Amino acid sequence: MQPTVLEQIGKRKEDNVVYTVTANCQDCYRCVRFCPVKAIKVSGGQACIEDDLCIKCGTCVRECPQNAKTIRSSTEEVKALLASGRKVAVSVAPSFAAVFDGWRTTRIPSALRRLGFEYVSETAEGAKLITEESFRSTTGGNICTACPAVVNYIEKYRPEHLDSMIPIVSPMVAHGRALKKRLGAEWAVVFVGPCAAKKQEALRPEHQDAIDAVLTFTELLDWLEQETIDLSTCTESDFESYGVLDEARLFPLQGGMLKTGGISCDGTEADVIHVSGAEDVMELLRCRHGNGSS
Ligand code: SF4
Ligand code: SF4
Repeated sequence: MQPTVLEQIGKRKEDNVVYTVTANCQDCYRCVRFCPVKAIKVSGGQACIEDDLCIKCGTCVRECPQNAKTIRSSTEEVKALLASGRKVAVSVAPSFAAVFDGWRTTRIPSALRRLGFEYVSETAEGAKLITEESFRSTTGGNICTACPAVVNYIEKYRPEHLDSMIPIVSPMVAHGRALKKRLGAEWAVVFVGPCAAKKQEALRPEHQDAIDAVLTFTELLDWLEQETIDLSTCTESDFESYGVLDEARLFPLQGGMLKTGGISCDGTEADVIHVSGAEDVMELLRCRHGNGSS
């Protein structure tokens, strides 16, 4: 059997997506205090992540003052994929506009083509697909499953809500599958997005057919710098996306799924609740247990 790209570069699928660079850790235990699910334990004086308990929310990475809590890098994996001769498409999460704002927004497609991606597309396409499908099948649940950290939290800590999760994949997975259907199964798809949890979501056995690797925006920025690709020298160009995506580009914002579905909602409705952040999600799930609305 052919070695996978991960095997070629000496990484294993089960390697933790979020881990500790022990040499950088100053044992301040800030990460222990901020982890929303208490997945970091002090062992031998060091703050270690217990992977079985971790929901990959990335809070410890953000809070660690020493950059000791780290998201596993996938840049070498993606470079190996591009070097393998396979055609590679990239799916860019809509939140890219917050990272590459203003004039940079229109240069990103060209910069990604310069890195070697042959098809440059927006994950907003997947957001549109899953929103339409979710609205068709609301009897199957009422908790949106677009965020893998929320899915991890429910699976690990609040299984009483499992039946309330809308049984539809995330925009990333839907888009990966749509791209492979459109371009051909021989194409690889790399997702670029904001968070660690997407790396773990892509590795789940049921998603292996959709996404071949995941980069964070930080990894993309570092890679562009390594290659000395300056966005100001990239031409303006468009993504190769299908359909009108204006509303779907708002999907990552609070209430964005409703906007994507063409539903105007100001957040005051009693039967629709938007929350973001681990603490608020946890609080909501504590409150809603037993009353069945979301
Ligand atoms: S916050 Fe960072 S430096 Fe402090 S204990 Fe955690 S990993 Fe170590
Ligand atoms: S990623 Fe989130 S859940 Fe995992 S150890 Fe860090 S703070 Fe805790």
